[in-house]
Amino acid sequence: MTERTGRRRVLLKLSGEAFGAGQLGVNPDVVSQMAREIAAAVDRVEVAVVVGGGNFFRGAELSQRGMDRGRADYMGMLGTVMNALALQDFLEQAGAATRVQSAIAMTQVAEPYIPRRAERHMEKGRVVIFGAGAGLPYFSTDTVAAQRALEIGAKEVLVAKNGVDAIYTADPNKHADAERIERVTYRDALQQGLKVVDSTAFSLCMDNNMDMRVFGMEPAGNVTRALLGEPIGTLNTP
Ligand code: UDP
Repeated sequence: MTERTGRRRVLLKLSGEAFGAGQLGVNPDVVSQMAREIAAAVDRVEVAVVVGGGNFFRGAELSQRGMDRGRADYMGMLGTVMNALALQDFLEQAGAATRVQSAIAMTQVAEPYIPRRAERHMEKGRVVIFGAGAGLPYFSTDTVAAQRALEIGAKEVLVAKNGVDAIYTADPNKHADAERIERVTYRDALQQGLKVVDSTAFSLCMDNNMDMRVFGMEPAGNVTRALLGEPIGTLNTP
């Protein structure tokens, strides 16, 4: 609970893959559905969102194909800003007040990243969407989700996933014997090489005492459930 409002504050991570529904670009139907699910919870919980950008570019993939890694990562970060704007649009259509904050200066479309201001927006009931990752190459938006959650005093990180409803011992879409995990410590997740979330994000949460829940975007309503604190998916703990 935050002191001033008594509401729970959470950080939701949405992957770029979700925005594109597996394709390049933004799928308006999917983003609209995500927005409605977030809007359904904002009167009861303070929500900040970190958006991924894998539906546009992933720096590591472009660099394997010959691009300079730093430049490719900046392209990746710019992709996240487009997702942030798409989410902002559909959130406002769903009746939620919003602000986008970008880690790369682009003042016509987004505020700069100012954590104290982000907190104030959330206290006023606005959804804050963080775009452009950390503004730093070699980072992922999973890691940024952990960092932003820590800096704005969120209670937990909620990582919404496509195509999987929790963390498993192996990829359940490839291994029939994969076992679903209800709860796991970061240390065990790292030792077992559980890869649903990147290891830097896990270790940042481990070192700073932050819970992380990994859950599936399907069925409809799951994002609202997770925001409101229902124990779905897998809970990662320090
Ligand atoms: N990225 C970056 N620094 C950051 C966040 C993101 O360089 O702080 C780049 C990186 O190239 C990454 C891309 O942006 O591949 C898209 O982010 P990510 O892969 O985390 O998106 P997701 O997998 O969640 O769609």
